[in-house]
Amino acid sequence: MAKTRMTKQRKTIMRILKNTASHPTADTIYEEVKKEIPNISLGTVYRNLNLLEEMNEIMVINYTNAQSHYDGVTKNHYHFRCNNCGKVFDLDLDILDEDVDKYVEKNTNFQIDEHRLEFYGLCPACQK
Ligand SMILES: [Zn+2]
Ligand SMILES: [Zn+2]
Repeated sequence: MAKTRMTKQRKTIMRILKNTASHPTADTIYEEVKKEIPNISLGTVYRNLNLLEEMNEIMVINYTNAQSHYDGVTKNHYHFRCNNCGKVFDLDLDILDEDVDKYVEKNTNFQIDEHRLEFYGLCPACQK
């Protein structure tokens, strides 16, 4: 029974994340899940988010001095964080992760396993 409930919670969280491009925080996800599962706790949402991350079903974006954002898109992509409104956006770029790794390996003596690249500035709405 507990297992079934767990699965339902996890599925709901997954669906919410897959259906948004807004990279919500755990608090925002909690508010959304509560509409469908009113008795769910924030701790349960966190537990499921951690589990989904371990299963590589979702991605977590961590920023210093800010809450973690969650992403239903797990393929490699870059993010932009607005310094004004704090929203996180996906960047649709032609540069591929592997290209960046290769570039660094070609120009240094380091062997690259992974990298992190984040962009900050003003989003289109905040530029107005
Ligand atoms: Zn903005
Ligand atoms: Zn994203």
